[in-house]
Amino acid sequence: EKIREAEAENRTVFSFEFFPPKTDDGVDNLFDRMDRMVQHNPSFCDITWGAGGTTADLTLDIANKMQNMICVETMMHLTCTNMPVEKIDHALDTIKANGIQNVLALRGDPPHGQDKFVQIEGGFACALDLVKHMRAKYGDYFGITVAGYPEAHPEVIDSSGIASLEAYQSDLVYLKKKVDAGADLIVTQLFYDTDIFLKFVNDCRQMGITCPIVPGIMPIGNYKGFMRMIGFCKTRIPAELTAALEPIKDNEEAVRKFGIDFGTEMCKKILAHGIKQLHLYTLNMDKSALAILQNLGLIDDTKISRTLPWRRPTNIYRV
Ligand code: FAD
Repeated sequence: EKIREAEAENRTVFSFEFFPPKTDDGVDNLFDRMDRMVQHNPSFCDITWGAGGTTADLTLDIANKMQNMICVETMMHLTCTNMPVEKIDHALDTIKANGIQNVLALRGDPPHGQDKFVQIEGGFACALDLVKHMRAKYGDYFGITVAGYPEAHPEVIDSSGIASLEAYQSDLVYLKKKVDAGADLIVTQLFYDTDIFLKFVNDCRQMGITCPIVPGIMPIGNYKGFMRMIGFCKTRIPAELTAALEPIKDNEEAVRKFGIDFGTEMCKKILAHGIKQLHLYTLNMDKSALAILQNLGLIDDTKISRTLPWRRPTNIYRV
């Protein structure tokens, strides 16, 4: 809804994604960081759902506190693999009772060690099934976001590193089905070649997909993490990015600074093409995401109030 409002007013908006930390201290730190970050007024913040529901309780708890204590419009990710429908409904009923109205509806990846996804009996086969289920059971209560893949889903990217035209197109046809079934918004997989994203948006529009398509931006923070992520997602990397990173790969500070500059340039190009939303994969870190937004003039660190009315002592997050 906030994205639609901003669109109508022609404003640029941004959102922050977080994941559930492994330790209690990590959770406390995350809330501290989130509390500071939401003072920059993101349109929403989202929290991921551990693969196969491994963080279900923690994700539900964090989502509740984001919505009701941090007081930010919250979107919870929800995957539907390896989960009976009752568990999915339990998650949806819980967030509904907590006033959360936004869900990123996902299929999820196969469990660790398996490379093909197997549907469990009575469970859902794909994100489309989850979108349909949510609309059938919960009507218009939820704003539904789905994932989009500018380079096609990694499962259809072959050893050449590029999906065939046929696979790319069938991914788009399927994406349109998710939107037609009731999705309101698309957030994309990370990418580092802005032209690929812009072409994807164009291809979606040609297919008749009209909802906002929000680019997922992951600032490059450290070289090893970056390499792991692009390997996992099979992301294409522009030659100039590789050339710039190679000589500085052992200098963490230089990589982080380069990541901010590169991310800023990507976003500038995206915004210059009339796109008005940016989704930042923060990896639970604030500095790079905020530096990019500051470079773009979308936030002003000198103008935020440190004592906004909703700010609370951190210990109440542990109720
Ligand atoms: P789907 O939309 O179901 O599609 C998966 C693939 O199968 C696509 O290639 C699609 O074209 C194909 N396909 C499926 N059904 C059909 C059909 N009927 N006909 C034709 N083609 C079909 N994972 C987590 O575990 N937790 C998270 O919190 C999480 N957050 C994510 C956030 C974003 C923005 C993105 C991009 C991914 C996220 N993932 C997360 C990863 C995601 O779960 C995996 O990429 C998963 O493999 C696919 O999920 P999906 O919802 O895109 O699947």
